[in-house]
Amino acid sequence: MAKLFFIHSTMNSGKSLDLLKTAHNYESQGKKVLVFTSDKDTRYMDINNNDLKGIIKTRIGLEREALLLERFLKTENYMDYIKEGNYDCVLVDEAQFLPREAVLALVDVVDRLQVPVICYGLKNDFRNQLFEGSEALLLFADKIQEIKTVCTYCDRKATMNMRIMNGVPEFDGAQIQMGGNESYVPVCRQCYKKRKYNYS
Ligand SMILES: [Zn+2]
Repeated sequence: MAKLFFIHSTMNSGKSLDLLKTAHNYESQGKKVLVFTSDKDTRYMDINNNDLKGIIKTRIGLEREALLLERFLKTENYMDYIKEGNYDCVLVDEAQFLPREAVLALVDVVDRLQVPVICYGLKNDFRNQLFEGSEALLLFADKIQEIKTVCTYCDRKATMNMRIMNGVPEFDGAQIQMGGNESYVPVCRQCYKKRKYNYS
């Protein structure tokens, strides 16, 4: 039986690298993979361009073309496209950004086409709330795995993401910042609280 996987972690844990490694492993055995990223990962794309192609980039320089999942799901007969492509696996990067309907469409790919789907993404946003895609994946995935990372400020395991805007932690605002100069760091709960409530 094919399964839906959700592999989550905080920022900078190498999720995209893990995805590219999985794709490579399949392909080195002569198997076919279909690779997606979310339309909302606008870092490397021209948002006015309507084509289906995006890109997955890793911090160590590896990259690969990927289809934009939300746009792909709007194309006619996308289930046939996957079925006729005889794919051995579907891989999805930035899965936290997916709308719930997109996750349900992936559930159908698993259940109706018997193709395994592996989604990589963040679990919680910088306000420490679930992303829509992550919530749906936690509810529907057959297998949930965590990639562990270490807190930026101490040696504990990071479980949260902190938004840094111009060098200062930020705890309120829109979940997805478009074109801002913010960055995100993985932090543990204690370090997150320390900075949020200003105690030492
Ligand atoms: Zn810490």
